[in-house]
Amino acid sequence: MKIVLKFGGTSVGSGKKIINVCEIVQKVKKNNQVIVVSSALQSTTDELLELSENAKKGQVNKKIINDIVQRHQDAIKDIIQDKKIQDEVFEKVSSLIKELEKTVEGVIIVKELSDKTRDKIVSFGEQLAVPIISAKLRDMGIKSESFTGGEVGIMTDENFGNASPLMKVTQHNVKNNLSNLLEETVPVITGFIGVTQQGDISTIGRGGSDFSASLIGMCLSVDEIWFMTDVDGLLTANPNIYPNAKTIPQLSYDEAVEMATMGAKGMHARALEPAKTANIPVRIKNTFRPDVSGTLINDQIIVKPEEITKAVASLNGLAMITVAGMNMVGNPGTAGEMFGMLGRNKINIIMISQSISEANITFLIRHEDLRKAVSVLQVSLLGKSGVTDVTSDDEVCVISIVGAGMKGTSGVAAKLFNAISKVDINVQMIAQGSSEQNISFVIHESDSKAAIEAIHKEFNMD
Ligand code: ASP
Ligand code: MG
Repeated sequence: MKIVLKFGGTSVGSGKKIINVCEIVQKVKKNNQVIVVSSALQSTTDELLELSENAKKGQVNKKIINDIVQRHQDAIKDIIQDKKIQDEVFEKVSSLIKELEKTVEGVIIVKELSDKTRDKIVSFGEQLAVPIISAKLRDMGIKSESFTGGEVGIMTDENFGNASPLMKVTQHNVKNNLSNLLEETVPVITGFIGVTQQGDISTIGRGGSDFSASLIGMCLSVDEIWFMTDVDGLLTANPNIYPNAKTIPQLSYDEAVEMATMGAKGMHARALEPAKTANIPVRIKNTFRPDVSGTLINDQIIVKPEEITKAVASLNGLAMITVAGMNMVGNPGTAGEMFGMLGRNKINIIMISQSISEANITFLIRHEDLRKAVSVLQVSLLGKSGVTDVTSDDEVCVISIVGAGMKGTSGVAAKLFNAISKVDINVQMIAQGSSEQNISFVIHESDSKAAIEAIHKEFNMD
């Protein structure tokens, strides 16, 4: 078989962990061709983002640079035995660090940080990780070469920070660049980053290495894509909130997508798109317990009567905005103007509902976008349209139940809201997509634990 193995940041957090990763590669490689995709070493992406923000204010953050240098140099020293390989990778890492420092210095001087430059800075996390993993594989006697996403041909648009791959060119390039290599070598490729047609480095959204892996898998028509993470798979609930949560053995692509958008641990929202298009099974497995089978995601829609609902997902860190006005009633255009305005300001809408009276529209956004969203809406709508009020609530969370069995089954919503009312929780907003595989509702953040417990019990997910 041909398999893409994608390792997340926690899987490659230190030298010792990289050895574990390489041992997994070695084992899988015995009977298969392997393509490795890796995230940055744990914490590095967050640090690079902080470094960029400091630089934008003209501040030098020596500590972050030193920490990053130390982390990567320690990993090399700890795990690479062969002197020649060690020298090579040290040199590669120091030249990347120099380039990083130069870029950051530029930002410090002009106190200006474009999305493009931020992407360049943040890309160093993955760029520094892959030569080390590849070097360790060579150190273990496995032929390997490291690449950036751009080098293998992942081409994106110019939406820096959340760029979208240009599918046709990417497919053509990746196939051309990698197909012939796989027989003899293990490519280790940076997740998360691509390159624009102008040759600038771009990133495809936080947690984007999953998306990269799935994309590369599609381009190479692999047999399976494995997301190696630090949990045993997708769980029936967030284990930090509900410790009894169980691993879900199998989900359809659509069920898993519903969970990914709810921030289920271990997946980028678009990660399953390419895999689904090419019908490639995805496994979510634990790097630290690789023998546990994890969660399999494929095209099979398995509905058992006792499993109408397979998981209860939750999303925190949100804010709810309500735009209201009696003159909005029967007056086309308000919603269009409102969402167009938010879109142009790069504010992502997570959930929407409008009452049948048409006198108000409520929607959810990320907490960090709240100030900007309210001010954009107030400036553009108040007094100029039918809108008379823009109000917000910043302590909300979304709870969502997911399962293909809900489609066409009556009584699921009744059961859900019955469970919620029994624990005395007030529901502020409800939405169900027409896919019927997900019912989502908004409650006060402090009620989320009680709600998840009640639902898990009501639907016998234990
Ligand atoms: N390193 C990137 C991030 O932390 C991409 C990834 O981990 O998938 O968002
Ligand atoms: Mg990550």
